[in-house]
Amino acid sequence: MTKPASSPASSGTAALFDVAVIGGGLNGLTQAIALARHGISVAVIDREDPARVTQAGFDGRVSAIALASQRMLEAIGLWRHVRESQPMLDIRVSDGDSLLFVHYDHTELGTAPFGYLVENRVIRLAQQAALAECAHLQLLAPMTARRIDYGISGSGAPAQIELADGRRIAARLVVGADGRQSTIRQEAGIRTVDWSYQQSGIVCTVQHELPHDGVAQERFLPAGPFAILPMTDDAQGHYRSSLVWSEPTGRAAAIMALDDVGFANEMRQRFGTGYGACDVVGPRWSYPFSFMLALRYTDHRLALVGDAAHGIHPIAGQGLNLGLRDIAALTEAIVDARRLGLDIGRSDVLERYERWRRVDNVVLGAVTDGLTRLFSNDIAPLRLARDLGLGMVNRIGPLKKLFMRHAMGDLGRLPRLLKGETI
Ligand SMILES: Cc1cc2nc3c(=O)[nH]c(=O)nc-3n(C[C@H](O)[C@H](O)[C@H](O)COP(=O)(O)OP(=O)(O)OC[C@H]3O[C@@H](n4cnc5c(N)ncnc54)[C@H](O)[C@@H]3O)c2cc1C
Repeated sequence: MTKPASSPASSGTAALFDVAVIGGGLNGLTQAIALARHGISVAVIDREDPARVTQAGFDGRVSAIALASQRMLEAIGLWRHVRESQPMLDIRVSDGDSLLFVHYDHTELGTAPFGYLVENRVIRLAQQAALAECAHLQLLAPMTARRIDYGISGSGAPAQIELADGRRIAARLVVGADGRQSTIRQEAGIRTVDWSYQQSGIVCTVQHELPHDGVAQERFLPAGPFAILPMTDDAQGHYRSSLVWSEPTGRAAAIMALDDVGFANEMRQRFGTGYGACDVVGPRWSYPFSFMLALRYTDHRLALVGDAAHGIHPIAGQGLNLGLRDIAALTEAIVDARRLGLDIGRSDVLERYERWRRVDNVVLGAVTDGLTRLFSNDIAPLRLARDLGLGMVNRIGPLKKLFMRHAMGDLGRLPRLLKGETI
């Protein structure tokens, strides 16, 4: 480990870290904590004020954290700070008002849930608590990097980062975790394939009369998927669920502009009567949906993780899980290289990471894209085909079990952290 200097230098020699993570969102901070727990010194640079990102109005989303991702958060000491989480016991997928549906019941595989539903705000609070325990981690926020010089390949010199306030740090590896519009990716000249779905997701919390029993629902409505994610009860013991309600962009903007009564009425038309009386509680948010895959994840002394490398439709609740799998693979590549005494910014170390992650990210990107296109319409022959598909998955045991294990994040050659092991 390179012992980090106590603070970035304003003159003279720049403070040297093993890794500088640009972007301290859900992925960036998790990446930093995973590395710091393994003795790698890390600086995280994020443009947001840490006090702002945990405020109630900043991010109202709830994330479905797959079981394998949760095991990793446990292994790096983050999960013990997650103060509330709702186990996802069953998943029910249905197509509009069709009678055919898929029901995944966790007891068909064992006792473990498919994963956990956690409010993003709760994850951010847990990250802040965990990073305070990491001796090898410095969070520089609110802050941006003004200039990064990655140096010449093969020279052995670390990357030099000039911060917006003029201070400087050096790092053997820069991790770009700065989200979909990643400046790090663009400045490195890494190209992407991307398109917009012309759809936005309205996010809000609904309080309802009847319990959700830990069942996550994905209903495919003609305008787009309508997800009902079970949440923990509120302080007064009310049952709650979080909605991710997709609509064509113009329609979503019109619904967002409705007053509270009009908005709740639109919600009820889609939510149905299965949960008894229901109402919207708290604010609403809207997120535009798009697809993006970076053509490379690495460059000289640079690796991209999370939404900086790939962005998918949240139809299957997998975007963050893909990022967490990136983090597990990159952490293992870095820690193994460090133990062998190698330069962690070497191209062969980074290529190992990229090879490990590329297929999973491309396949899931393609599957979610296909599902979004197949289900976001009301064309009769397509409806028939997809309903037959749903009915088939429900009846063919091995196929159903494969999908269930996928929802748990338990397929493929998993990095050790995703198996719940430290490296
Ligand atoms: C409605 C919705 C529901 C979703 N539900 C799920 C789900 O259930 N399960 C799931 O797995 N995924 C889900 N996702 C996807 C998931 O939310 C994202 O994949 C994840 O939040 C991406 O995190 P990130 O840290 O990579 O990027 P971001 O969240 O975009 O974070 C980027 C960070 O970088 C910082 N930053 C940006 N530029 C700079 C800069 N120049 N300098 C310094 N800092 C910078 C930002 O301040 C931010 O903190 C959902 C997405 C949406 C839209």
